[in-house]
Amino acid sequence: MHLITPDKFHDECAVFGIYGHKEAANLTYLGLYALQHRGQEGSGIVSSDGEHFHQEKGMGLVADIYTKSVLKRLPGPRAIGHNRYSTAGGNNLKNVQPLTVNFAFGNLALAHNGNLINAQMLRNELEAYGAIFQSSTDSEVMIHLMAHSRGDTLLSRIIDALSQVRGSFSVVLLTDDAVIACRDPHGFRPLCLGRLKDSWLVASETCAFDLIGAEAVREIEPGELVVLNQDGVKSYMPFTKTEPAKCVFEYIYFARPDSKIFGDKAVYLTRKALGRQLAKEAPVKADIVIPVPDSGVPAALGFAEGSGIPFENGLIRNHYIGRTFIEPEQAIRHFGVKIKLNAVSEVLEGKRVVVVDDSIVRGTTSRKIVKMLRHAGAREVHMRISSPPIVSPCFYGIDTPTKKELIGSSHTIQEIRKYITADSLAYLSLEGMLNASPGIPGHYCNACFTEKYPIPFTKAEEMQLGLF
Ligand code: AMP
Repeated sequence: MHLITPDKFHDECAVFGIYGHKEAANLTYLGLYALQHRGQEGSGIVSSDGEHFHQEKGMGLVADIYTKSVLKRLPGPRAIGHNRYSTAGGNNLKNVQPLTVNFAFGNLALAHNGNLINAQMLRNELEAYGAIFQSSTDSEVMIHLMAHSRGDTLLSRIIDALSQVRGSFSVVLLTDDAVIACRDPHGFRPLCLGRLKDSWLVASETCAFDLIGAEAVREIEPGELVVLNQDGVKSYMPFTKTEPAKCVFEYIYFARPDSKIFGDKAVYLTRKALGRQLAKEAPVKADIVIPVPDSGVPAALGFAEGSGIPFENGLIRNHYIGRTFIEPEQAIRHFGVKIKLNAVSEVLEGKRVVVVDDSIVRGTTSRKIVKMLRHAGAREVHMRISSPPIVSPCFYGIDTPTKKELIGSSHTIQEIRKYITADSLAYLSLEGMLNASPGIPGHYCNACFTEKYPIPFTKAEEMQLGLF
């Protein structure tokens, strides 16, 4: 995670951990491979053989970083790993996690998914006491807090440190004799517990377990801390209980559709339900429904099912390039849309087309897509979005631009329709989205759609985060 400053992107990330397997690093590598969608900037694995920690990190994709010889340098029956999301700055190896230290309680490595809103304030305080930071990530604050804590066991120090940070964290720690995983009391980011015969695992999403033949046991609860060691799994609830605020955007866009996050069914089914609900709320006369691949596919299938309009693939995606957001420069991002998607004119020619996407962020993708569809012969283009307008940035770990760059924060739906040059545009309602998502509607964070942030900001944080 990168420290938040106004006009900077925030990171998404993937975490993974395994205790008690002779091929711990190999399985961590595969877990990270399955979680590649959560971060493509860099990746790291730290393993422990009981005496020493071994660490390998690199920039780029999992498949390129971990060769056979690299994995050979990661011995031991326990390991943790991390994929880091691209940011607008600070793309360097020092920020690639897991972060490792050696302090009074032995070795410690930390991998973090989430974003801490009071990181800068804590860092200032720690630096005033002489702490020397190695990276510019907010995650390092947690390590320093653990080192500075007066707790007399490592566990009490970890709990003490995690009680002082505010924001979102799904963290996985490696100690000399355990893997420890913890989710913040709101449970913003997902974290799952798995099992492979006698070994215990944790991962951001269950798709990591599927790849290595492990069983998804359950969600790690908001506010829960689990210790995986030779005695198995021990669970603690060390924080003051609060209302869950699980990130609904994981369902909309971020998680892999085959994952079961937040203890529920596959994300795919929720995305389809969002599409069905959208068809109910915003019907339109059309000949075909097409998705913006890949993230819009389940919602478009749901829309087709709900509306009775045939589903077609009118846009084909080149799978060998990353997501639009990976490129930090505006100019490259525009280019990215064009090389990412191509229209199939035989499908589109003369047709009234409903095109379904999961979200509009800046509006640049939608605008290009509408133009591309018309160019390929579509007679009418009706844009349908399977989430409400994004009006405010995320401070809990989803990569969103600043408020002024979010088209939904400053434009009406009609203005956005005009900008993207569609014949019609409709978004899913907030109520429709929450009702189509599993579980209790009130247990989701929807700040990006409502500007209602579950953790109140202090005045200093508001200034720091550019909320004035
Ligand atoms: P934009 O051109 O900025 O409106 O981008 C919209 C596209 O970005 C949609 O197709 C979404 O699937 C995708 N998207 C939405 N949120 C994110 C995110 N946090 N990171 C990367 N891509 C995203």
